[in-house]
Amino acid sequence: MEEPHNIKGALVVGAGPAGLMAAGELARAAVPVTVVDAKPTFGRKLLMAGKSGLNLTKAEPLDTFLTHYSGSTAPLIREAVRAFPPDAVAHWAESLGQTVFTGSSGRVFPKAMKASPLLRAWLEELSGLGVAFHTRWRWAGFSADTLLFDTPEGPRRVSPEATILALGGASWPRLGSDGAWAEWLSAQGVPLAPFAPANAGLTVDWSPHMEKHFGAPVKAARLSANGLQSPGEFVISRRGLEGSGVYALTKPVREGAPLTLDLCPDWSETEVARRLARPRGKATVAAHLRKTLRLDPPRLALLMEFGRPLPEGDALARLVKTLPVRHTGPRPLPEAISTAGGIAAQALDTYRLKALPTLYAAGEMLDWEAPTGGYLLTACLASGRAAARQAVSALAR
Ligand SMILES: Cc1cc2nc3c(=O)[nH]c(=O)nc-3n(C[C@H](O)[C@H](O)[C@H](O)COP(=O)(O)OP(=O)(O)OC[C@H]3O[C@@H](n4cnc5c(N)ncnc54)[C@H](O)[C@@H]3O)c2cc1C
Repeated sequence: MEEPHNIKGALVVGAGPAGLMAAGELARAAVPVTVVDAKPTFGRKLLMAGKSGLNLTKAEPLDTFLTHYSGSTAPLIREAVRAFPPDAVAHWAESLGQTVFTGSSGRVFPKAMKASPLLRAWLEELSGLGVAFHTRWRWAGFSADTLLFDTPEGPRRVSPEATILALGGASWPRLGSDGAWAEWLSAQGVPLAPFAPANAGLTVDWSPHMEKHFGAPVKAARLSANGLQSPGEFVISRRGLEGSGVYALTKPVREGAPLTLDLCPDWSETEVARRLARPRGKATVAAHLRKTLRLDPPRLALLMEFGRPLPEGDALARLVKTLPVRHTGPRPLPEAISTAGGIAAQALDTYRLKALPTLYAAGEMLDWEAPTGGYLLTACLASGRAAARQAVSALAR
């Protein structure tokens, strides 16, 4: 193999939101930057995120915003977000020509909704700042004290002055972030928290009569686990339950907390019991439930699925308010929206890897998690920026 390339300045590995943010920060500080990515094009997960409306951030008080991060590196992420808060994210998107708007829930989107115009403008900006790009450069681990890459021209060893690793987590691996880096860093003595699905659907082994409800949205219901409540909506799918209402509770459910469903969140248990006590006449139990509690077919089906044999009287009212959701855990990591686990806080001197002092890490590689709602992208952008700033100071020294 040829002698190691001495990349001047900084190398950014991974061209997702964290890596691209780091590249811009380095370039603006006059550090020569090269960005490489394993895939033939950049920002594939960002583009996928834009398919259902690119939720960039959330307009809410900063202290509330920061409570949504957990995991060993959450304090680091909170600090980065304080320095690059939601309104800075919105300004940044506008500086790239993307007018943003705030939806009724406070979630902030580009008017275009999708990510492609933003990514295009971002790459043009970086190119204008002199950033060099290489696609199909896959980091493949270490060779002695150099970084080893598989490239279209064959294997390359490089030893940059500073490297920002921004390789993402391990969800949706076909978009590029496959988590293969965990093995290489662990072998170098970098402590990692195990990967786990975050913002994932739930697997349910449905009985055959649920089939007609696959695809049905469940509205006007509330999920609860370990004291956390999720008023969001979800969908009954062939595999289980999907959607933001379920994703928000992945962490407590993953940790073993029972999940319950309130089918009538607008009424107290007493009111539900009062309604159920109305004379039933010749109506079936299902018809009585539908009529007195105004249950639509999907909610009624869930009550029958998880609650049968149905009790009577007050016990039925209690069941309607706290229906145990029988599931077999979150969907596997490749199907999750994001990844919990990754590089642990004790591995880091701020963003620098203690075991490998020319390497820094940012974005979803770090051990933190947050619900959907703009918290993920904000943390990736903010940590990419902060890691680059630390590298700039080190290079200046
Ligand atoms: C369907 C979907 C919808 C989403 N919607 C939203 C949303 O609306 N709002 C929000 O806040 N978040 C959303 N997210 C999450 C968000 O997209 C991610 O949290 C974010 O992209 C992570 O950024 P990152 O830069 O850390 O990693 P990534 O975006 O995963 O980028 C990592 C890059 O590293 C590259 N790479 C990986 N391994 C190697 C290697 N060995 N060598 C070289 N390159 C490598 C990959 O190809 C990739 O380009 C969504 C995610 C999904 C899957």
